[in-house]
Amino acid sequence: MHTESEDAPVSTEVEVEYPALFLKKGEDARLRQGHQWVFSNEVDTVRSPLNEFKPGEIVAICDAGGRAFGLGYINPQALICARLIERGVRHAIDKSLIVHRLNVALELRQRLYAEPFYRLVFGEADGLPGLVLDRFDDVIVGQIGTLGMENLKDAVVEAVVKVLKPRTFVWKNNGSVRKLETLPDYVEVPVGALDPLTRVVEAGLEFAVDIANGQKTGWFFDQRDNRDRLARLVPGKRVLDVFSYVGAWGIRSAAAGASEVLCIDSSAAALKAVTDAAARNGLSERVRTLEADAFEALKDLRQQRERYDVVIVDPPAFVKRKKDFAEGRIAYKRIFEAAMQLLNRDGILIACSCSHHMPRSTLLDTINQGARHLDRSVQVLAQLQQSADHPVHPAIPETDYLKGFICRVLPA
Ligand code: SAH
Repeated sequence: MHTESEDAPVSTEVEVEYPALFLKKGEDARLRQGHQWVFSNEVDTVRSPLNEFKPGEIVAICDAGGRAFGLGYINPQALICARLIERGVRHAIDKSLIVHRLNVALELRQRLYAEPFYRLVFGEADGLPGLVLDRFDDVIVGQIGTLGMENLKDAVVEAVVKVLKPRTFVWKNNGSVRKLETLPDYVEVPVGALDPLTRVVEAGLEFAVDIANGQKTGWFFDQRDNRDRLARLVPGKRVLDVFSYVGAWGIRSAAAGASEVLCIDSSAAALKAVTDAAARNGLSERVRTLEADAFEALKDLRQQRERYDVVIVDPPAFVKRKKDFAEGRIAYKRIFEAAMQLLNRDGILIACSCSHHMPRSTLLDTINQGARHLDRSVQVLAQLQQSADHPVHPAIPETDYLKGFICRVLPA
């Protein structure tokens, strides 16, 4: 039995009242372990009917005994119906809390990277579920994945302005995850103006990306720490960068002393950016591009008897949803196998997956199966994960999405 007072709205120290969302008995273990999500089937809907909440509003998430874990936002229509933002109920969810989270996030990135180009906020792992912020010096690009965070959008912009005083803030709100919360796609510039091209500096190299039309936020900061490893692998070598986008791996390989680099992508715009970056960094003589479907291109290169010492395969997610797993896994196997067929003897394959539904162990099995099918064997030299500006939350496996292996591929 519950009493009137147990079900009353929960107040913070600053006297903001939030409605209570009650979990069923025994459904609080995940939150206690540090996770931040509440699934709709874990809610005690007799005590706190979901249709009585305003979509996106802030709620106090409470266990069956009536104790509040903390504050979060709710989307009664979504499978993940609430996400915890603040443990405890002392601070209201407002601009000043976001300013605090931004400062904590910024301190890590400033410690990690000498230059102001990085993922500043990585959602749940930085205590701001549903929010991604990438920093391109004085240009901030934001992406929102949830209705609750969409409601906090103005507070996010104000907090970013307070902490970083950016010249430009862009919302690039057109990711596929938004469909899960029936959020519309749009690009919007609430602060300053967006130039057609935005400068990115990685390891002293200059790139220019088209944020509005490019992939994701415009740049894949998640592979930067992994690209740092190229320096020991590529000097004097022929390098193939498959799914190159604007050539982050390929240009860095050329700068690290690769004798020749070929970047393959199906996007003409991305490859134009590769060519421009090669020129800007004085590497044009050693960087070429090929606009093609990667699967076709690898087959053609093999027929032409082209061989490479290092092949990088960093594709888009082939397993976007759980139900695509079987098909996606086959695509990974096919592309890794095709890449191995282009390797010189004892060459290096860098094989990556950014699908969080593709477990690390399955990725390695897939690489190994590809090698065995070709009667080759694989030595794993390094296991890759996303860069440190995308910290992994140990209780939230979804935050550990990027996997990769640096392998030497030997005759059997
Ligand atoms: N490796 C890149 C990121 C790759 S993003 C980096 O580190 O920056 C994925 C890229 O794959 C996109 O540029 C997209 O245009 C390209 N792409 C997607 N499907 C493709 C296909 N079938 N063949 C070739 N390129 C493809």
